[in-house]
Amino acid sequence: MRRSASFDVIVVGSGAAGLAAAVAAERAGARVALATKTTLQACNSAKAQGGIQAAFGEDDSPEIHAEDVMRSSHETANPRLVELLTSEAPSAIRWLEELGVEFTRQGSAGSNGHSSAGGYRLARCGGATRHRLLQVGDRTGHAITKALRDTYEAGAGVELPQHTLRALAPSEHGWVASFDTKEGPADVEGGAVVLAAGGRCFAEAETRGELSTNHPNATGEVTRIATDAGAETRDLDALQYHPNGGAWPSTMQGYSIPETTRAYGAVLRNADGEEFTDSLGPRDAVSAAIVVEVEQGRGVETPDGRPAVWLDTTRISPEDAAISLPYMLRRYRAAGIDPLAELIYTYPVLHYQNGGLVISEHAETTLEGVFACGEIAGGTHGRNRMMGNSLLECAVFGRRAGKAAAEKGSA
Ligand SMILES: Cc1cc2nc3c(=O)[nH]c(=O)nc-3n(C[C@H](O)[C@H](O)[C@H](O)COP(=O)(O)OP(=O)(O)OC[C@H]3O[C@@H](n4cnc5c(N)ncnc54)[C@H](O)[C@@H]3O)c2cc1C
Repeated sequence: MRRSASFDVIVVGSGAAGLAAAVAAERAGARVALATKTTLQACNSAKAQGGIQAAFGEDDSPEIHAEDVMRSSHETANPRLVELLTSEAPSAIRWLEELGVEFTRQGSAGSNGHSSAGGYRLARCGGATRHRLLQVGDRTGHAITKALRDTYEAGAGVELPQHTLRALAPSEHGWVASFDTKEGPADVEGGAVVLAAGGRCFAEAETRGELSTNHPNATGEVTRIATDAGAETRDLDALQYHPNGGAWPSTMQGYSIPETTRAYGAVLRNADGEEFTDSLGPRDAVSAAIVVEVEQGRGVETPDGRPAVWLDTTRISPEDAAISLPYMLRRYRAAGIDPLAELIYTYPVLHYQNGGLVISEHAETTLEGVFACGEIAGGTHGRNRMMGNSLLECAVFGRRAGKAAAEKGSA
């Protein structure tokens, strides 16, 4: 067994949450190690396309944002965590901008699906009562993780790629994290640990024999490691289906068609071309409506026999598509389908772990000195997350976890 140097803070996972925590801890003066299963780039966060919520609209406020979150969660979210999420959203956006993220801006008032308050191009996402979704084209997660990673790499923090967490145990100075590495097992000691290893939907989809939008590293073992060490969880059974998985062509199966397609005018239609639900309802409601429509015989079948309904993307204006959906258009057109000229097949697909480790407002789990942020944590979304609030959670609670862990780990 190798025992490497000890650190003030060990961060596990290099998605948006882990990177935000690592940057915040390092900036707070801690000696930080960022450990991750494969490469620093490999994560769900980088795949996020649609955007990130923050109340910048003139008709909006953090309180209205919080009401939307609570309603979409069916009042199951933790109100204090929601208050922190929405009240710190604008400052989290400014922080990301300082680190180099350039959110799409629009000088003039919007037309179809967006407004342009504060200069940002703001879309309305499912379950929201206001236009609140900031975007970086349709590669928002890529832009956010790149800026955070560049910032971390420019600092004094240590990177530990190819380190897969296998166990966590209390030690004299904090916690010992045991990893599998290419060179064999290695123990690393930290004054505090931040768990930011994401959810489990890739593994869960494999078990269920279903499609998933997730990165193969989303396997969930770190949640089990934390519970084995005594951490409490909540809502772990509540998994989210993205209403709009790509169903055809085969190269697009499991692709998450951005919810911004619907924000910019796309609607769901059944086999008879009828709109059968509010296409901008909360995710669980839209997914359920699609499943029922198919079960009751009003769906369509993909050329390879999968159940589906239509997403009418022909209603999106070419101008909105060029600014906010260029990646989605490129992918479909490369597969021989033009979403602006024809309807596309869609069906719900396993996407997100709503629940997770119980955390305090400083993102501390029920284990002293062990923090959690991002998809691995529970409470912020209750049992049904709104689109655009996960990247936000990573930024807000990643920063909170990093700062609090630095304080604890350097003490
Ligand atoms: C296709 C797609 C589109 C999405 N679009 C949006 C969107 O538009 N807006 C939005 O807000 N959210 C969106 N989401 C959700 C959001 O991106 C994720 O929930 C969020 O980014 C999770 O961030 P994270 O840092 O918690 O986890 P991840 O980004 O999943 O990172 C987890 C990290 O932990 C590492 N890891 C896992 N296990 C271990 C281990 N045992 N040891 C060490 N490291 C480990 C992984 O390799 C990875 O680096 C989308 C998700 C997907 C999949």
